[in-house]
Amino acid sequence: MTAAILNGKTLSEKIREEAAQEVARFAEETGVTPCLVVVLVGDDSASEIYVRNKQKACEKAGITSRLHRLPGSATTAEVLTLIESLNADRGVHGVLVQLPLPKPIDSLRVLETISPLKDVDAIHPENVGRIVQGRPRFLPCTPHGIQQMLARNNISTAGANVVVVGRSEIVGKPMAVMLMQKGQGGDATVTVCHSRTRDLPAVTRSADILIVAIGQAKFIKADMVKPGAVVIDVGMNRTDAGLTGDVDFEPVKEVASWITPVPGGVGLLTVAMLLHNTLAAARLQQGSAS
Ligand code: NAP
Repeated sequence: MTAAILNGKTLSEKIREEAAQEVARFAEETGVTPCLVVVLVGDDSASEIYVRNKQKACEKAGITSRLHRLPGSATTAEVLTLIESLNADRGVHGVLVQLPLPKPIDSLRVLETISPLKDVDAIHPENVGRIVQGRPRFLPCTPHGIQQMLARNNISTAGANVVVVGRSEIVGKPMAVMLMQKGQGGDATVTVCHSRTRDLPAVTRSADILIVAIGQAKFIKADMVKPGAVVIDVGMNRTDAGLTGDVDFEPVKEVASWITPVPGGVGLLTVAMLLHNTLAAARLQQGSAS
């Protein structure tokens, strides 16, 4: 079997186009243009690329985007002061702090300081709690993009054995929680794996849908995948051979029924879902202002 490709490019273009139309309608109805502010601390080269892509996508969708740069030597207090000023700014609807922050900065405090109404990464404890309770305000962009990719390709999660490899706060953990919720895009039987999992290949081979977010280039081999499984590769590893996923794409493609490429898969959807969240944040704040 050779897997069909889950094409992130085509789908992200569609979602971005839908977002652009909704942004135009919202602006016409309210006179308000949604505005996203990205905070970038330090000069991490991968972060620079991600931020540039997010800004370009905003621009194309009619969303105003602003970049606040702080030097790598910035203190936690300086970052908090900036976040508080953005929280108070009625012209700013979404605040995104590009991660990772330089080590000395207290990331938890920074993320907890973002107003939950402007938290377009859905990482504030209040928003995470709402996701766990199944009444989300925002969904985190990468898991939401994966959910859209599955749904829009008619891949049902209901009753499926889904294995999520990786338990990060931004991908693995919320992905698992979203998949176990009742209703569309959920109702899965979810297993979460991590670096302490015993006999990982035995667990991954049980997956109807395998979602991998570990940051280890080509880690998932063909013999770790059940024939006919759907394989979603979140990994973005910069290697000498270029950008590579966590899945050994070519051999796994011969075993799976569907597979995401890297690049051209999940990463593009992450950016598209950020537009969706920024518009949702503008709607929320406009609703509470009127
Ligand atoms: P992360 O914070 O880097 O954590 C990695 C997770 O993988 C941890 O839970 C770790 O387990 C687990 N892990 C590491 N090695 C493992 C192994 N050999 N076997 C089993 N589990 C292992 O995770 P992340 O931030 O989600 O990033 C993961 C990857 O996704 C990275 O390549 C990142 O660049 C990429 N990413 C892509 C997007 C996108 O839009 N496509 C978005 C976010 C992240 P422990 O918890 O036990 O340490």
